Amino acid sequence: MPFIENNSMIYWDHNSTTPCAPEVVEAMREFWNEEFGNPSSSHIMGHRSAVAIQRAREQVADLANVFPPEIVFTSGATESNNLLFLGILLSPSTERKRIVVSSIEHKSVLEPAYLLKGYGYEIVKLPVDRRGETKVDAAKKLITPETLIVSVQAANNEIGTLQPVADLAEIAHENGAYFHTDAAQMFGKLPLDVQAVNCDFASFSAHKMYGPKGIGALFVRGGPRRWPWAHPFLGGGQESDLRPGTSNVSAIVGFGAACRLANDFLKENSAYLYQLSEKFIRELKVVEPQVIIINEINSSLPGTLSIIFPGIPADLLIAHCQEICISRASACNGAIGASHVISEVLQNSCLEESVVRVSFGRDSSPDDFGAFFRILKKIRSGV
Ligand code: PMP
Repeated sequence: MPFIENNSMIYWDHNSTTPCAPEVVEAMREFWNEEFGNPSSSHIMGHRSAVAIQRAREQVADLANVFPPEIVFTSGATESNNLLFLGILLSPSTERKRIVVSSIEHKSVLEPAYLLKGYGYEIVKLPVDRRGETKVDAAKKLITPETLIVSVQAANNEIGTLQPVADLAEIAHENGAYFHTDAAQMFGKLPLDVQAVNCDFASFSAHKMYGPKGIGALFVRGGPRRWPWAHPFLGGGQESDLRPGTSNVSAIVGFGAACRLANDFLKENSAYLYQLSEKFIRELKVVEPQVIIINEINSSLPGTLSIIFPGIPADLLIAHCQEICISRASACNGAIGASHVISEVLQNSCLEESVVRVSFGRDSSPDDFGAFFRILKKIRSGV
């Protein structure tokens, strides 16, 4: 069954968000107004909701290869990332004052990390190469015994670059630092074995992987009892006191269902998306021989293409794409505005204006390529 039904739009913006899979919608359905018990209630309806949450926790943990109690449900990766840095901020001061992040982290890592700068912490950015990959050699010098935590994303949302997170985790641990990865884009799209990477913390989001919006998780090694910092949120004790607030049962169930689906179809979907991207670029280069692809298709996030159309401002192209949803960079940067990721990798402000992100999903079809190529031809011919 297609995910998008009765929709005349061509949707190529899956890194921004995905539709909910029909199986996810179905799994969530009864938790709106049939099984609506509060999972913290001690009666039978509360118990049934708690059991549903436990099942979802197991499904999320299974996809990440961690133990279920190590999964803390949050409202999404933004909250997971903030929880981490705010926990540090509110804790008694430690000897270690260095926080290391990559220069192309999502704003939900960069901004809370920089908040700490006002409280005596030093924020160090790891440089990236022209494809956005963090330089491990530089990391070896910049991650020091003074480092408290290293936070590097698993995959970039704008250009799809996969980061050498296992190597970086090792360097962090050699220096006695914690390692966190923001895996919002990677989770559910490529295998992410949190044990193998050896993360201490990892952030996940359901709506990038055919689950509902407003739900995600923070993996905490050893579970919330091993959380080394203060609890920024106080209240009813849910999620082992680390993320209190009445649990969003239907969304949690949907996230669990999306993880189960990802476990079943991840290989098939990623292979299809790599193939589709190759075909798209091959055909695009016939229409637009001058295009530049920033990322390496087969070693990036499946289906993510960061494309420079020299001479065509991205805003103009997007404005012409009335029925095709593509984006400039990240939806989180707003409709317009410079992308720090593109600036970091390109170091060429003329080309920055012409970068467009296409992010395919499992329902994207080569049948739709022609519509996009016609728009390009129209723009080039000045019509
Ligand atoms: N990190 C990355 C890498 C992302 O791509 C996003 C979403 N654009 C987020 C964090 C924020 O996730 P959420 O929407 O779940 O808060």
